[in-house]
Amino acid sequence: MKSLSIKIGVFLIIFFCIAYASSAMDKGRPYYEKKGYVLWGINTEEKVIALTFDDGPHSVYTPQILDLLEEYDAKATFFVIGERALTYPDLILQIGYGGHEIANHTYTHPYKITPEELKEELKKTNEIIYDITGTYPLYYRPVGGTYNDRIINTAVQNGYKVVMWSWHQDTEDWKTPGVKKIVSRVVSGAKPGDIVLFHDAGGDRSQTVKALEEILPELKKQGYKFVTVSELLEINNLSIKK
Ligand SMILES: [Zn+2]
Repeated sequence: MKSLSIKIGVFLIIFFCIAYASSAMDKGRPYYEKKGYVLWGINTEEKVIALTFDDGPHSVYTPQILDLLEEYDAKATFFVIGERALTYPDLILQIGYGGHEIANHTYTHPYKITPEELKEELKKTNEIIYDITGTYPLYYRPVGGTYNDRIINTAVQNGYKVVMWSWHQDTEDWKTPGVKKIVSRVVSGAKPGDIVLFHDAGGDRSQTVKALEEILPELKKQGYKFVTVSELLEINNLSIKK
């Protein structure tokens, strides 16, 4: 009898440990993808690719990138930092006039953030972008791509979809790895429905610009169309209503 109650006791302890551990663990990609809360790319056979640019706008590199995008009839999504948008409203307008999408990458680009702070940063940035363009951004990309349940829940509860990128399409251009490396990563990895991560600010982005000079014509030649995140979502009827 005694050994049975010990066994039950041990069983209960193990059970509660597992229950606690799984509740403390963040939900993974399949959960968030199914719910439609987070996007890493889409499954499609249509030759579409979403180019995304983080950390801008930048007075030198953003206009250079916009010129290139126009030359190749490419649309992209810019995840801008609120305080930079405030400094460069003309660049925000220029991005919008080019038919590109503007999205939210927080106000001060903090690497550590509480849900309360995130809510404030998102709101502040969205208001700035609305004041400049008359449109509220729908998408948010976490700084450094770092997320957890609380961050995602905060974003979703405040009406945003979280947009990451296709893991094989992280150009790591912020490390200035050389034009060749950036080009080969994007071109050799390219597949329909990809989201590519670039940066148009945060350091010397001349390699990013030079790489785009090669990436855009090459993928266009292969039959790819460059679309915004919203256009990408519409292909699979995943667009969010607001
Ligand atoms: Zn960033």
